[in-house]
Amino acid sequence: MSTLVMKFGGTSVGSAQAIRQAAAIVQAQAARWEQLTVVVSAMRGVTDALIDIAHVAGRADVSSCQGRLADLRTWHDEVITALIPDGEERAKLIAEIDQLFRELDAYCSSLGGEQATPREMDAITSLGERLNARVVAAVLRQIGLAAQAVDATRLIVTDDAHQNAVPDMQATRSRTRAELLPLLGAGVIPVVTGFIGATPTGTITTLGRGGSDYTAAILGACLDAAEVWTWTDVDGVMTADPRIVPDARVIPELSFNEVRELAYFGAKVLHPKTIRPIVDRDIPLWVKNTFNPEYPGTRITADSQTRSGPVTPIAAIPRLSMITVEGRGMLGVPGIAARTFAAVARTGASVLMISQASSEQSISFVIPTGSSAEVIASLEAEMALELARRDIDRIWSKDDVTILTVVGAALRETPGVAAGVFGALGRAHINVIAIAQGSSEFSISLVVADDDAEEAVRHIHTEMLAETN
Ligand code: ASP
Ligand code: MG
Repeated sequence: MSTLVMKFGGTSVGSAQAIRQAAAIVQAQAARWEQLTVVVSAMRGVTDALIDIAHVAGRADVSSCQGRLADLRTWHDEVITALIPDGEERAKLIAEIDQLFRELDAYCSSLGGEQATPREMDAITSLGERLNARVVAAVLRQIGLAAQAVDATRLIVTDDAHQNAVPDMQATRSRTRAELLPLLGAGVIPVVTGFIGATPTGTITTLGRGGSDYTAAILGACLDAAEVWTWTDVDGVMTADPRIVPDARVIPELSFNEVRELAYFGAKVLHPKTIRPIVDRDIPLWVKNTFNPEYPGTRITADSQTRSGPVTPIAAIPRLSMITVEGRGMLGVPGIAARTFAAVARTGASVLMISQASSEQSISFVIPTGSSAEVIASLEAEMALELARRDIDRIWSKDDVTILTVVGAALRETPGVAAGVFGALGRAHINVIAIAQGSSEFSISLVVADDDAEEAVRHIHTEMLAETN
């Protein structure tokens, strides 16, 4: 049975025009695949609007809250009016939308002037996808397809880590198959809400911002899909941000390993967890452009050996801080690194990169700037004795830095690629503050000043194109 799961991101279903385009894509693929499942995000901007509504409701600002709810309602009504002609289908849809808005209104009133807990925030933000799945399903029916909206709360069973819930894959597989196989068998296209799930007792959870990609991959794995396609608004995974590098290109093929490094370093194309469910089953993932559907896009598979051409992506995460713990007395003292990172962990800050000089006289790591003061305070408390004894000379933060990550199998397969990167930066007089190589050898990361970052990306890009051509 050939099964395809397709996910449409917020921009791809973000306006009447975009939904029309997405529906045409579904129609074309429905003719080619025996079974088709669609996953949709909220319309672009709706999740942010819902978060905003929750904040306003949490301040008991009743009139702003009602105003924003009305705006959100108008937004959906306009799309519905543009897409569904007056008649039974529209009346049914409006009744469902009414019901969801009543639910949203009830959540907001129940906050009673208190800020939403993560659990309440999940209930409120779930509405974006739940509204849009119904709209998209109605549009598909309108063009003659059998389609039905399905809330992923019935399919994806998660723990209760609200806003970043983790699916129980076994339970999810049996639920998904029990709910979706009968529909698929009857030739119906399920239009499933991205982003959301529920605990075993039915409390709504979300998988984290941008989580609809992850939803598609989870469903792809559970349905033993042949392929998963994510539709977005760019032609695929690019070698670099085209706003920075004008000759950035689409990467035709990437391996799961490469994407893993890229996702971790903040590439915006895919939710970082997306490939987890599909790696084991070796299900190819395509990233495609809703607004340029004939373009093949990027294919992500276990094996990227077959690909050719310049294919190395470069990702940048700006506005970070590099913390350095430094002192001659650290040499050979066991446990300093462990204590350093334990002190960081206590603050809850996430560490994006670590680099230690082999002289062992310093450890540096990069964190979001917002965590920097708290991390330094925690380190100073942990190392109070060493600081007093001058075993550690200082603990300091260098702000306004960017991590650049160069990802690619070429780094492992072609000697000298890394050297080329550093040579290019040297010739451009760009100071490299720190370096780390991913242990997988699929990536190298370097730290540069924010002000140097764009130029560094351009130089590395030119160098990599030359090396891998
Ligand atoms: N609507 C959710 C968000 O904006 C999930 C998604 O778009 O993937 O984060
Ligand atoms: Mg996304």
